[in-house]
Amino acid sequence: MTLQRILPFSRTLLDSVLTKGSVAIDGTCGNGHDTLYLAECVGETGKVYGFDIQEEALNATKSRLEKTGQLLQVNLIHSSHAHVASIIDEKDKGKVSAAIFNLGYLPGGDKSIVTTPNDTLNAVTAILELLRPGGILIIVVYSGHPEGKKESEAVTAFTSGLEQRDFQVLKYGFINQKNNPPYILAISKT
Ligand code: SAM
Repeated sequence: MTLQRILPFSRTLLDSVLTKGSVAIDGTCGNGHDTLYLAECVGETGKVYGFDIQEEALNATKSRLEKTGQLLQVNLIHSSHAHVASIIDEKDKGKVSAAIFNLGYLPGGDKSIVTTPNDTLNAVTAILELLRPGGILIIVVYSGHPEGKKESEAVTAFTSGLEQRDFQVLKYGFINQKNNPPYILAISKT
């Protein structure tokens, strides 16, 4: 057999919790690939909140969603994901089925604008509260760039310390590949 690579595995996890009508969060829209996938999974009766601090990323995401007819169910937010708790609708709190973060910089964009340990940990902490029981938070971690190494250590330390009674935490990655390939941290709320 061939083991699932990182992107397909993240989608397998999303598929396991998302249905039409679900609420989902993309913490880092970037070029909108994950936002589009979430929008397709939740359909027009669901809702996706998509965050990015760069207008360029939100424009790319909007255009991808428009081309595929999936914009209706997506709320694109020009803000740091650290503010997620104050932005998401009251009625969606505790109802979020899935959230995904693809850390690092915008592919094809300014490599100096990256996710940071501080904002990422604030967002992760907030989203764990917003998840419904059985919901999942997926973090795709890149440790290969200088900021990424610190972020990888911070996120690993935080998630390793989560109470076992309340959360299952999975680490999925290929440990014999060169150049620090990305890996997944997936947190399922019990
Ligand atoms: N998932 C995206 C896709 O499918 O194309 C790729 C995301 S890219 C690796 C990381 C994105 O995170 C960048 O677009 C960057 O602007 C964004 N970002 C960095 N810090 C952020 C923050 N504090 N809040 C929200 N987005 C942030």
